[in-house]
Amino acid sequence: SISPQLAELDASNFKVTRTTNFRDVPLPGSPEELSHSHCTDHMVTVRWTDVNGWETPEIKPYQNLSIAPTASCLHYATQCFEGMKVYRGYDGKLRLFRPDCNGERLSNSSQRSSMPGFKPDELKKLVGKLLQIDGPRWLPKNRPGSFLYIRPSIIGSGPHLGVQVPKEATLFIIAVPWPDFTNTTKEGETTPSKGLKLFASTPDTIRAWPGGFGYAKLGANYGPSLQAHGKAKAQGFDQILWLFGEDRQVTEAGASNFFIVWKNAQTGKLELVTAPLGNQLILPGVTRRSVLELVSSRLSKPVGSLEPVEVVERTFTIDEVEAASKEGRIVESFVSGTAYFITPVAMIRENDTDISTLGPDGEPAGYAALIKSWLGQIMYGKEAHEWGYVI
Ligand code: PMP
Repeated sequence: SISPQLAELDASNFKVTRTTNFRDVPLPGSPEELSHSHCTDHMVTVRWTDVNGWETPEIKPYQNLSIAPTASCLHYATQCFEGMKVYRGYDGKLRLFRPDCNGERLSNSSQRSSMPGFKPDELKKLVGKLLQIDGPRWLPKNRPGSFLYIRPSIIGSGPHLGVQVPKEATLFIIAVPWPDFTNTTKEGETTPSKGLKLFASTPDTIRAWPGGFGYAKLGANYGPSLQAHGKAKAQGFDQILWLFGEDRQVTEAGASNFFIVWKNAQTGKLELVTAPLGNQLILPGVTRRSVLELVSSRLSKPVGSLEPVEVVERTFTIDEVEAASKEGRIVESFVSGTAYFITPVAMIRENDTDISTLGPDGEPAGYAALIKSWLGQIMYGKEAHEWGYVI
């Protein structure tokens, strides 16, 4: 889809302008960190035009972007983004987790929002270069186990109020300290909660549909869903569980994919079930894919006291979840994602019904904790693995 005359995105050549005005690094848990907007010292920008293609990437001091009020992204949602993290390993190294997957998804998202694609490999090189510069100050070696959130984005940046395919785009990458959501103790609670509370979506707000763009990471998927999210939050829920269709299929939860471990009603065998890709309804999460691959390879036999589980990607409905809960067949459920990592789900409110999604003894069985520890060992360099990309 990329015209051969246009330059490809090439991360091997950079223009670097270093800051002389270093920003304060927020302390973990500080109001600056909780603001989710106190970025590191530098950012990456790369411009694309339909005349030249991708221009030379620049690393420069973190600063505001300048775009015309007529810029395409401000009117027609020509916008997409990624969410990834850089991890400070226990071996002192900085790592990205499967950045090729983020590169591929960003290129797909960009094309789905009528903007240019690129070779997926280039993204990890751009991110790597930024973190080679900002990593030492913002993720010091004496804080192994810490991370920064990285937000690559592409916007239609040209002044084109006429309705048309963008003639200009800008890829930018920023990095920001991010609070650790994976601790399930919430504000005001003295003991950790057993898991997230999900609020099932109502038919007046549908996140994604066949032929739509729910499978791409477009801002256009998020803005229209934030109102439902805000209402659920105000009632004490953590995320919306997005249902789809007359039969109320379970798709995904907020900014994460949803999994359930249950006993199959017919065979009695343990299954790890999640919604399938391919019908354009859910985001193909990098963590989702990693969970499925790890469970297929490592949980085909028992691990400690945990029985083996079979991985099943299929359409399933909220009625099936409710039936499994009533019959005591649910063993555990959890969400996966870059921000939420692997977090157990305690319950789902659907209409007026509260469905417990913990195990029969009211506790998560331990699959989520095991998978989380496997992934964490790869991310923080305790296990050498091809998914960890050292920068
Ligand atoms: N679904 C949605 C809608 C998301 O925004 C995210 C976060 N990117 C995910 C799932 C999880 O994806 P990943 O594991 O790649 O973070």
